Amino acid sequence: MTVVRDVPKQLFIGGGWQDAESGRTLSVDNPATGEELCQVADASPADGRRAVEAAVAAQAAWAATAPRVRSEILRRAYDIIIARTEDLALLMTLEMGKPLAEARAEVAYAAEFFRWFSEEAVRIDGGLMTAPDGRNRLLVTRQPVGPCLLITPWNFPLAMGTRKIGPAIAASCTIVLKPAPQTPLASLALAEILTEAGLPAGVLNIVTTSDAAGVVEPLLRGGQIRKLSFTGSTQVGRILLAQCADTVIRTSMELGGNAPLIVFDDADLDEAVEGTMVAKMRNMGESCCAANRIFVHTSVAEEFASRLAARMAALTVGPGTEPGTDVGPLIDNAGRSKAHDLVRDAVKRGATVLTGGELPEGPGCFYPPTVLTGIAPDSAIIDTEIFGPVAAIRTFETEDEAVASANDTEFGLAAYLFTQNLDRALRVAERLESGMIGINTGLVSNPAAPFGGVKQSGLGREGGRVGIDEFLEYKYLAVPVGA
Ligand code: NAP
Repeated sequence: MTVVRDVPKQLFIGGGWQDAESGRTLSVDNPATGEELCQVADASPADGRRAVEAAVAAQAAWAATAPRVRSEILRRAYDIIIARTEDLALLMTLEMGKPLAEARAEVAYAAEFFRWFSEEAVRIDGGLMTAPDGRNRLLVTRQPVGPCLLITPWNFPLAMGTRKIGPAIAASCTIVLKPAPQTPLASLALAEILTEAGLPAGVLNIVTTSDAAGVVEPLLRGGQIRKLSFTGSTQVGRILLAQCADTVIRTSMELGGNAPLIVFDDADLDEAVEGTMVAKMRNMGESCCAANRIFVHTSVAEEFASRLAARMAALTVGPGTEPGTDVGPLIDNAGRSKAHDLVRDAVKRGATVLTGGELPEGPGCFYPPTVLTGIAPDSAIIDTEIFGPVAAIRTFETEDEAVASANDTEFGLAAYLFTQNLDRALRVAERLESGMIGINTGLVSNPAAPFGGVKQSGLGREGGRVGIDEFLEYKYLAVPVGA
């Protein structure tokens, strides 16, 4: 494949492409076939240290650049990404599995973070006020937090990178990015694009590695990284928060979800089914915002479940590169086994399978769109992030019951509700313990909105007006004025 051949396969350090010091490489596989796509450099802790040193060396000069310069680099990178939509989409489909149409949508979403933060780079403001005693003037300015470590997952290979790199560049922070080992190619392509857009050497460094824990921990303990922005599971987030505590590193944590989706008896059922398809099936269900627990009012539950099952059964499962594919493979066999084990556990405890639920034959990590009803309360699927195309439906009688069930989780990232009653929509949205709520929609992601969760779904927000704040420190200057 030309797109795979054309992407650099080395570490990107100090503006140059280099092999890992050990010469080791790791394999990147196509989840639709199980075959190897290519090998990329496999960094050791020593390579990680070199990347941090490059970021530290570049920080002072980068912080001194004019905001307009940083803004225009991001804007040029946006234009290049859009111009290369087809290649980048194909690259992600090959390394991650999502259908080409979804990969194209991710390219647009990912590029939008660069356009948004190109506009924010020139709006970093401060303030001037008179102290209450009237004597001091308080001058408030904002500076980059310093060299940042960015760690991303495999499910949105391009967008998870741009959502962090965009604000870091806008705020004039230097960067070490560690992408997920399953999907490093989109990040490596991004490094080339940013270089072409004029990003100075050393501002962005990329280490691909099969030894995440071994490479990252010494960097967090080394005293030079001033900020960690992590997207991934809550389990790994907890480990990294503990490591950051020792050297008091600022953190942004975009962690796991267990999104509730509530369909009230006054919902427009067509809208609710379509919204559920998006909330459940975007990215084959491998999204932190995926509807994980679907609660439907008893009076419409049967109708809703049968309509949803019909829509799910009509989806075409296959390689993401095939035209007409709706559902690509899951990321790997472990991901597929996890989804299937959750289905089997639910069925063992009494759930009914309306469609799907069987492991297909043949190569690739495919799993069929599956709808379950009658989920028993002790089923593992209730508390576990499914990360697959499985819709688990439960019923409720009252609004209070729906809200209590929706909030009965340690997570609080996204939630969805469907109702035609505006009072109810606002009332329930206020009571749901989630960072983002979709009202009569199954899609909450938007580069202009503050993305993030409450409870154990994370700390901080990405995107929106506040996204850049995560990469800036306040500095206050006390200026006495003579009486
Ligand atoms: P993960 O296992 O937590 O891995 C995420 C990243 O962290 C990968 O690059 C991984 O590299 C790295 N990592 C793992 N252990 C590490 C350690 N001890 N030290 C440093 N880095 C480490 O999550 P995933 O399976 O890739 O992604 C799925 C999870 O991400 C889900 O829970 C999903 O909800 C969450 N997610 C959240 C958001 C959000 O915005 N809230 C967005 C997307 C995904 P290795 O793979 O090499 O371990």
